[in-house]
Amino acid sequence: MASIESTKIQEIETRLFINGKFVESSDKHTFDLTSPTTKEKFAKVYEASEDDTNAAVAAAKAAFPAWSALSPPQRGAYFRKLAALILESHEELAQLEAMSMGRPVSGYFDSYAAATTFDFFAENGYQALRTTSLNTPGYVNMTVRQPFGVVAAIIPWNVPILFLAGKCAPALIAGNTVVIKSIEKAPLTSAKIATLVEEAGFAPGVINIISGHGQISGNVLSHHMYVRVLSFTGSGRTGRLIQTAAAESNMKNVVLELGGKSPAIIFPDADIEKAVEETKHSIQWNSGQVCMANSRIYVHESIAPTFIELFNKRFATVTIGDPLLPDLDHGPLADEAQFKQVQAYIESGKKSGKMSLGAETIDHKGFFIQPMVFLDTPEDAQVTKEEIFGPVVNINTFLDEDDVVAKANNTEFGLCAAVYTKDIHRALRIAKKLDPTLAHDMPFGGYKSSGLGREGWSVSINNFLETKTILVKVDNA
Ligand code: NAD
Repeated sequence: MASIESTKIQEIETRLFINGKFVESSDKHTFDLTSPTTKEKFAKVYEASEDDTNAAVAAAKAAFPAWSALSPPQRGAYFRKLAALILESHEELAQLEAMSMGRPVSGYFDSYAAATTFDFFAENGYQALRTTSLNTPGYVNMTVRQPFGVVAAIIPWNVPILFLAGKCAPALIAGNTVVIKSIEKAPLTSAKIATLVEEAGFAPGVINIISGHGQISGNVLSHHMYVRVLSFTGSGRTGRLIQTAAAESNMKNVVLELGGKSPAIIFPDADIEKAVEETKHSIQWNSGQVCMANSRIYVHESIAPTFIELFNKRFATVTIGDPLLPDLDHGPLADEAQFKQVQAYIESGKKSGKMSLGAETIDHKGFFIQPMVFLDTPEDAQVTKEEIFGPVVNINTFLDEDDVVAKANNTEFGLCAAVYTKDIHRALRIAKKLDPTLAHDMPFGGYKSSGLGREGWSVSINNFLETKTILVKVDNA
């Protein structure tokens, strides 16, 4: 087993980054990080107190006038430096994530995605435009878009720095300053990014990065009167708390990216091998801890035996083990709570469906779960209805197009969906009825209880700009 020493633990940054300085928490509280691979405690991370969180917001507020006065290219220059530093730190970031939440270093791409996001927004600050009008006699009217002030971002643990970049880059290029709260299960990559923010030379207070639990720092941010926008990715349970806190405090705008129970529908004319490969990847990558993972597969009865046989074969070939080792593609779940939750769903699944893969136990002391397939699970079973967030998939069959669309949509989640067919008319007909999907340059976000608002390169900046109308009375016009 690759040992945790492969990254020098004593050099890992675990402090809070507030107003351009690394500080211990004001009350000196720390929380332990436990390796999901070995169950050993390996780091103590500083827990932001209420005072620390307030200090981070105050720093962001103080930094706002100078930062918002810069032009987009001036702000973008810092982004390009940060993006380059993130790329240089790729290996270390991959190791830190593997250590904290068990993601195999082999498939780590978050550093590339985060760097590309900062590079993209470095060039895109001039999107902050609006309209003018001569429609009112005697007036030239205009609307302008302005930053809100302090933006908070609260991120989850499955792809932490992807969300850090996806929320911060558009907020910052629009002229806002930010406070990011990382997540207690995987705070180390965010703290590493804080060291790179310092190196890139951002002015103190423009980016503040704190670690800690939701009920302390997260709760302060969501109730804070100076936080004007809160962009959140995580569970529906927390999303509801945040929206309530916003309503109870200052009516801050909230962007909520929440959970999913995404369907994939496979028709007989699909390329079966490709459908197997892609649906397998979707539910197995990151041990199934992906909001968009296709955790429900509906396959047409006529091809079901072939599809299921191929799927099981492919699903069983994953290489399970220490995520710090190269070439392994299936690590442990993020922590004990996640492990117990997935195990409870598996027990419930065994009672309601037929298990076709995954009964073997894994000879490993960490929080590993073998990829698992349930067949013929009733539509109202707990494992069909609820988000499991593990490498567990239900495969059910169908005969009729309308029937399968109704089943696919029969959930309060609405984050992502896929259709496999070569018939473009059928594909588009169904796409119109199903919930959305994801591409870098297209808006992403949930229907129904999967969220509120849209994120993505083409739209995220809109979440961080207010529109103001200005009426200008012109003499003799
Ligand atoms: P979570 O809701 O438990 O935690 C997310 C963040 O919220 C953490 O930083 C946590 O500390 C914070 N938090 C917890 N309680 C809080 C409170 N009372 N106030 C403020 N903040 C609080 O979610 P998670 O377990 O980290 O992530 C898994 C969930 O996230 C799954 O449901 C998954 O589907 C969803 N997710 C959605 C997307 C998306 O883009 N839609 C992406 C990834 C994950």
